[in-house]
Amino acid sequence: MAVFDVWTQKQKLPLYSYFGVESAVAPLTSFTIAIGELDSIPEKIKEAEPYAILKIKLGTKNDKEIIDTVRDCTEKPVRVDANEGWDLERAMEMCEWLAEKNIEFVEQPLPADQLDKTAILRSSSPIPIFADENCMTSQDIPIIAHAFHGINIKLMKCGGLLEAKRMIETARKYDLQIMLGCMVESSVGITAAAHLSPLVDYADLDGNLLIDNDPYTGVSVINGQIVLPEGNGLGVEVKNVSGLK
Ligand SMILES: [Mg+2]
Repeated sequence: MAVFDVWTQKQKLPLYSYFGVESAVAPLTSFTIAIGELDSIPEKIKEAEPYAILKIKLGTKNDKEIIDTVRDCTEKPVRVDANEGWDLERAMEMCEWLAEKNIEFVEQPLPADQLDKTAILRSSSPIPIFADENCMTSQDIPIIAHAFHGINIKLMKCGGLLEAKRMIETARKYDLQIMLGCMVESSVGITAAAHLSPLVDYADLDGNLLIDNDPYTGVSVINGQIVLPEGNGLGVEVKNVSGLK
């Protein structure tokens, strides 16, 4: 990222231009609601007010109660990450059930070593299923493409911007939808990923919003919309250190 930052600054280009993005129109990002107690869900939904799309982690014993509680609070689009938490039977039942609840898609429903079963799920699921743990780099895509509708690309998973760009190109060849995701990370990684986000269908770039000691400023999110920084290079700056907790 540092090399790309220096290089594109020298070229007097924003980083996204280097990757062939013509207009910096980025998608909305989802915002992850960390589910603890069911009682805490209404408050967390309220805190997520500025975000138009929510992401909920499932794969627990009370998945349906969680979604019912969320749906009592909001009709916003919701994406679900099952985090490898279901078996085939449960995944088939859950995908049918979630389709009735305005759920956009489900990430990694089955454990990554159950690709054959995931392919069965794909053929019957009324909502798209996305690979996360099943798809680390571009080399995984030809192997898993038949079992998913889309993939989740993360810079921290694939190793960097060039490989992420390669994954985008490969996924398109296989007619897969693409989400750009993240870990919990600072604005450096999130901003770098955001520069690629105009090339993808969905963004889940909230990692810097989930921490309160981010040493950098870069990409911002306004009403759920990713807004790329202005200027050349990556567009990341070190915050005034006294402002850190
Ligand atoms: Mg995931």
